[in-house]
Amino acid sequence: MARYTGSVCRLCRREGVKLYLKGQRCYSEKCAFDKRPFVPGQHGSARQKMTQYALQLRAKQTMKRIYGVLERQFRNYFAEAVKTKGVTGERLVKIVESRLDNVVYRMGFAFSRRQARQLVNHGHVYVNGKKVTIPSYRLREGDIIEIKEKSRNIPFVKEAAESSRERITPKWLEVDYDNFRGTFLRTPEIDEIELPADVQAIVELYSK
Ligand code: SF4
Repeated sequence: MARYTGSVCRLCRREGVKLYLKGQRCYSEKCAFDKRPFVPGQHGSARQKMTQYALQLRAKQTMKRIYGVLERQFRNYFAEAVKTKGVTGERLVKIVESRLDNVVYRMGFAFSRRQARQLVNHGHVYVNGKKVTIPSYRLREGDIIEIKEKSRNIPFVKEAAESSRERITPKWLEVDYDNFRGTFLRTPEIDEIELPADVQAIVELYSK
């Protein structure tokens, strides 16, 4: 399946929740969801009662869209979560949270996961001193993530890092904004993350 190339704001309106896919714009008055918080299309603003299956499906789509993961990869993550010891939903969240693109975004070197993915794809990110160009690269505890020296002047990277200084760094990360570097200390617990998707509904959907 090809990657979605349409308007990402439509995805927020489709899921009925802000997915923060456009970086700074999401926090501005230009946010399309804030202006039109209903499903796109002719009957979008009409209230619809959702079946349980529809709710589960929407939860899955929301999660995939937040992390920018396609169906096949998401299914693989689920299969891995099932096989691994622990609660499946929690394992699933830990897997997506340890993706390199997500961590670059969480560290605050990009305004969105999309931007972070682009940074990784274009070779601006190093892990433990080696260039890694795979956004889905899975980090391990103690891995050191660094923005390439020459890439630290990219305007959005500079701006994102500067504005991230003001934020509270997630407990599972350590970030040194002066040196555009951070450490992935551990995978987060599910209650440390704000997720607009019901993870249990996703587990139920895939377990059918
Ligand atoms: Fe979603 Fe951001 Fe677009 Fe708002 S601006 S609709 S939060 S992607």
